[in-house]
Amino acid sequence: MSASLPTTALLAAAAQFGTPLYVYEAATIRRQYHKLTAAFSGHPTRFFYACKALTNVAVLRVLLAEGAGLDCVSINEVRLGLHAGFAPENILFTPNSVAFSELVEAKELGVNLNIDNLALLEQFGATFGGSYPVCVRLNPHIEAGGNYKISTGHIDSKFGVSIHQMRHLERVVKGTGLHVRGLHMHTGSEIKDVEVFLRALDILFDAARRFPQLEFLDLGSGFKVPYKPGDPETDVAGLGERVAAAFQDFEVEYGRPLEAWFEPGKYLVSECGFLLVEVSTVKHTTATVFAGVNSGFNHLIRPMMYDAYHHISNLSHPASPERLYTVVGNICETDTFAWDRLLPEVREGDVLAFHNAGAYGFEMSSSFNSRLRPAEVLLEEDGSLRLIRKRQTFEDLLAGQVA
Ligand SMILES: *Cc1c(COP(=O)(O)O)cnc(C)c1O
Repeated sequence: MSASLPTTALLAAAAQFGTPLYVYEAATIRRQYHKLTAAFSGHPTRFFYACKALTNVAVLRVLLAEGAGLDCVSINEVRLGLHAGFAPENILFTPNSVAFSELVEAKELGVNLNIDNLALLEQFGATFGGSYPVCVRLNPHIEAGGNYKISTGHIDSKFGVSIHQMRHLERVVKGTGLHVRGLHMHTGSEIKDVEVFLRALDILFDAARRFPQLEFLDLGSGFKVPYKPGDPETDVAGLGERVAAAFQDFEVEYGRPLEAWFEPGKYLVSECGFLLVEVSTVKHTTATVFAGVNSGFNHLIRPMMYDAYHHISNLSHPASPERLYTVVGNICETDTFAWDRLLPEVREGDVLAFHNAGAYGFEMSSSFNSRLRPAEVLLEEDGSLRLIRKRQTFEDLLAGQVA
């Protein structure tokens, strides 16, 4: 959750651009980025924004201007990054389950490759030898708890080369002359416990001993931000100190400097974003009071897909007495945003704001039910509002259809 709610600017945005509307605060993105760079200033560290969280080019450019790199999971994200102005060497391509041809395409664009599959590594090495250094994505099988659906480190996970396949990986590297310049892990779990994270780092150090040409170790993401009031945020300053100390110790043994790389998504863009919706109906049933809004899981799917909590504010009547509501969308499907939520009394026409809507909000939206995807607006530090994506139109629904 954001520390403070920019109510006036959000209401102005809703009035100017209509709802449903995504609004992103540039200042919050910069603040989060600076917290990370300050926390890890004790060791050479690079941050690659995991742009699948939010790919609007204007947002990419906010982070580009701050000096971030970009982590991309599809060839089109790579193209968006290049279009936004990121240099190929500042882009990391971390796909999974892709065809060899997509890796070759990314190689031709000159970006860093992070390969997560022994068969693809073997094919890449057989084709290019050591001429194009790569990073290998490992699966340390570290479970830090959390949601099985979004966790990637468990034994059933499709991600990465298992840490138990190291011997096989070494064979592939030696046999093909592949140049491994980095090792990567991204468990998908949130860093709730620094000790658990450091155990995963130890596993990565252990793997690194087998590869003498490494330049970096990529520790993925897992930085947690608060969604509910009172939720903790990852103590990045504490983590930064521990990680720097661990790297310094390991470098003595390893005999070469190693950069730390990270790929934060949510940490950078979750709190900057608000989805503004308007209350269409207030409906009393035998069981509850539904506040029906002009949106649904076609615009924000996280509550339905991950049981995610998104805090809701009533921007129009923040001071009214609180009552219990079940907040639902207008999609012909069960699309409940929140059960039994205490909100300042809601009236038809009120503008509500969903918090933490920057990461995996617009990006996972669709035009299900032939409803239009929202517009996106960037709230600049000087208070100005900039339209950075137009609302979809009916013509957009027909575009590309061949009658
Ligand atoms: C999604 C993803 C991230 C970002 O995860 P967050 O939880 O949003 O910080 C980082 N690295 C990779 C490889 C990812 O797929």
